[in-house]
Amino acid sequence: MNADDETFDLIVLGAGAGGMTAALVGALEGLRVVLIERTDWIGGTSATSSGTVWIPDNPHQRALGVTDDAGHALTYLDALVGGHADRSLRATFIDQGTRMVEYLEARSDVRFKAYPHHPDYRQELPGAALGGRPLEPLPFDGRRLGAAFGRLRAPIRELM
Ligand SMILES: Cc1cc2nc3c(=O)[nH]c(=O)nc-3n(C[C@H](O)[C@H](O)[C@H](O)COP(=O)(O)OP(=O)(O)OC[C@H]3O[C@@H](n4cnc5c(N)ncnc54)[C@H](O)[C@@H]3O)c2cc1C
Repeated sequence: MNADDETFDLIVLGAGAGGMTAALVGALEGLRVVLIERTDWIGGTSATSSGTVWIPDNPHQRALGVTDDAGHALTYLDALVGGHADRSLRATFIDQGTRMVEYLEARSDVRFKAYPHHPDYRQELPGAALGGRPLEPLPFDGRRLGAAFGRLRAPIRELM
């Protein structure tokens, strides 16, 4: 088939954490997905980051006995972001964050662990937590990627 004639259910631009996750979920849900990356490397800024994701009231903090409250987290984001963005977006982020973690861990090899002692950066704001919300991705054996491992953007050594 001529590539120009191919059709897709989902076209994702950018192979960073956001795009890769969107493409992964699309594929897992049975969509025909194409992921387009403009550079020669997979990973974007995400590959150079610490990889910590901030998900309030997540299952891993609960397992450690670190209690949280989604309403408190929204209060924190409201105080932090204020009127600079649509409130429904951050409410949805908090509402769906736990679902995202559970979905990825059930349907893929992504695994997280919670930092029980990792304060939210703006402790003076209402709703700030002392720990539990940041999640660290666990190491993944790159050998499982085979030759594709060589296409990953190099990380920053200090943040590995
Ligand atoms: C040193 C460092 C440490 C960090 N640590 C953390 C952390 O611990 N926790 C945290 O939450 N955040 C952290 N960040 C911020 C975080 O890395 C970024 O916010 C996040 O990676 C952005 O993810 P993304 O998928 O949106 O974009 P990216 O990971 O940047 O991916 C975007 C991709 O899209 C590609 N692209 C762009 N335009 C096009 C186009 N038109 N067509 C096709 N492809 C395109 C780019 O080449 C790139 O590969 C850190 C950042 C840095 C620099």
